[in-house]
Amino acid sequence: MYDICIIGAGVVGSFVARELSKYKLKVLILEKNSDVCSEVSKANSAIFHSGYNNKPKTIKAKYCTRAHEIIDEICSDLDVEYKKIGSLLVSLNDIGKDSIYEKYKNGVKNKVPGIKILEKKEILELEPNISDQATLALYAPTTGVINPFEMTIAACENAIENGVSLKLNSEVIGISKQKLKDFDSEALFEIKCKDKSKYYSKILINCAGIHTDKINNMISNDKFFEVAPKKGEYIVLDKLEGEIVNNVVFMTKDPDDKKNRGIIVTPTTSGNILLGPSAEDTKENDSVFTTKEKLDFIQNSAKKICPSINLDNIITYFAGFRPNANLFIKNKDTGEIEKEKSKDFIVKQSSDVKGLINVAGIKSPGLTCAPAIAEDVANMVVEILGQVEKNESFNPKRKKVVKFKNLDEASRNDLIKSNKSYRNIICNCEMITEGEILDAIHRKCGATTLDGLKKRTRIGMGRCQGNFCTLKALEIMSRELKIPIEKLQKSNQGSEFFVEE
Ligand SMILES: Cc1cc2nc3c(=O)[nH]c(=O)nc-3n(C[C@H](O)[C@H](O)[C@H](O)COP(=O)(O)OP(=O)(O)OC[C@H]3O[C@@H](n4cnc5c(N)ncnc54)[C@H](O)[C@@H]3O)c2cc1C
Repeated sequence: MYDICIIGAGVVGSFVARELSKYKLKVLILEKNSDVCSEVSKANSAIFHSGYNNKPKTIKAKYCTRAHEIIDEICSDLDVEYKKIGSLLVSLNDIGKDSIYEKYKNGVKNKVPGIKILEKKEILELEPNISDQATLALYAPTTGVINPFEMTIAACENAIENGVSLKLNSEVIGISKQKLKDFDSEALFEIKCKDKSKYYSKILINCAGIHTDKINNMISNDKFFEVAPKKGEYIVLDKLEGEIVNNVVFMTKDPDDKKNRGIIVTPTTSGNILLGPSAEDTKENDSVFTTKEKLDFIQNSAKKICPSINLDNIITYFAGFRPNANLFIKNKDTGEIEKEKSKDFIVKQSSDVKGLINVAGIKSPGLTCAPAIAEDVANMVVEILGQVEKNESFNPKRKKVVKFKNLDEASRNDLIKSNKSYRNIICNCEMITEGEILDAIHRKCGATTLDGLKKRTRIGMGRCQGNFCTLKALEIMSRELKIPIEKLQKSNQGSEFFVEE
C-alpha cells in the first residue's frame, strides 16, 4: 500500500515525485514505457521560457515566475545543465510586429526581468547572422536552454534516492476505489496495470501527459477535458553550425498566413542547433514520424531568418506531441456542453473523486514550470492528507554521469587512474567513454535500452548518429545487464535490434 501513486514519469511526474520525497510518504511512480522521459518530455524545444508568453493571472504565469526563482538551485542540486542565454522574438519586414508589443506588455505584467524592444541595429549587434530584414525584436535576457532528458532523469533519480519507487513497463489500464479488509480508513485507489499487477494508494496523481484524459475518465464521472495533441517536427544541426545564433531566436507568426506560424532557431545545451517546431493537430496514437512537407517548411523558415545557415549540417529529425487540452463547458443559456480550448494548465483535485489530482494539459512551458507545478501539487497532497511529517533525511543532491569530454587533462588522467574504463572511447563524435556507459547503466533509474543510454550519455547523438558506436554500446549493455544482445531493445518491447528469422 502506498500513500501516493503518480501515473507518468515525464518531467512533471518526476518533479512531483521528488517534491513528495521531501515528506515521510510512501510514493510509487507507474510508467508505461521502458524508461522515464519517453514521451512529451523527450521531444520539445528545450527552452526555459522567460514568461512573456503567458497570459497574466494564469497558473502558467504563476508557475513560470516561481520556476525562475528556484531553477538555479535545482540545477545546481541535480547537476543539470542550464544556460541563461537570452532570447529574441524577431519580426522580419514588420510581419507580426504587433505581437511584439503585445508580448512586451504581457511580460511587463508578468514582471519578466529586463525585457526590452530592440530595433534593427541592436538586433544585428546581438545576432550578426540574422537577416537584415529584421526590423523589430523583443529581447528577454532571462530565457534559457536546458537539457530535458537530464532534467527529467535527474529529478526521478533523486526521488528514488530519497525513497520513491519506480515501476517501468507498467501501463495503468483500470482504476477504482476499494475498501480493503483489515484497513479501516477510507476507500483506496486500486490501480490495475496491463501486466496484471495491482497497486493501492490513498492519493492518485495523474501526470500522464497526452493520456491524462484517459486516466481521469477511468475513475471520474467528471470528464471535463480531453487532450487534443498537436504535433511538432524538428531538425537538429551539427555542432559545426552551433554559433549561427547566440540567443534563442523566435520568429513572429504571420497574422495573415495561418500556415506561417514562425519557427525557433535555438542553441541547445550540448552545442547543436535546433530548428522547428511545426504545429499540426494529430491523434494521440499517431506515430512521431516526420514529414517532408513540414521539414521543408522549417528549412525555408530557417533560411529566411538566418540566410547563411548551412543546412548541409542537418544530422537528424524528430517530432513530439504537445498535450493541448480542450475543456467541456456548459453553456449557461442553452445548457449545451461546448468545447473550448484550454488556455491554461489543469492542476487541481477532481470534483468527484477525492484524492485524484489531475495535472493535465501541460503544454509549453511545461518543461519550465515542472518544478513549480510539483511544489503546488505537494502542497495539495499535504492539505488532503492533513499533517505530514517532513523527511529529515531528504538529500536534494545528485551527481550526473561524468562528462569525460568536458574535463581538463589533469581530471581526465585522475579519472583514468581510478577507473580504466574511462580510457576506452566508445563514441568518437561525442567522445563518450566506456566509463560513462557503465555509470549510466549501474545507477538508480539506470539505462536498460539504447535510447536510455543515449539520453543519459549522448552516445550516438553526434554527427554519425550512432553508425560507428551502436554495436559497441550494445555489446557493453549486453555484458553489464546480462541480457543476450539479440534481446536488447532500442526503446520499448518490440524494438529489439536483432530479429530471429
Ligand atoms: C513540440 C513541443 C515543444 C515544446 N517546447 C517547450 C519548451 O521549449 N519549453 C517548455 O517549457 N516546454 C515545452 N514544451 C512542453 C513540455 O515538453 C511539456 O509541458 C512537458 O514535457 C510535459 O511533461 P509531462 O510529464 O506532463 O508529459 P510526458 O513527458 O508525456 O509524461 C507523461 C508520462 O506518462 C506516461 N503514461 C501515460 N499514460 C500512462 C498509463 N496509462 N500508465 C502509465 N504511464 C502512463 C507516459 O508514458 C509518459 O512517460 C513543448 C512541448 C512540445 C510537444
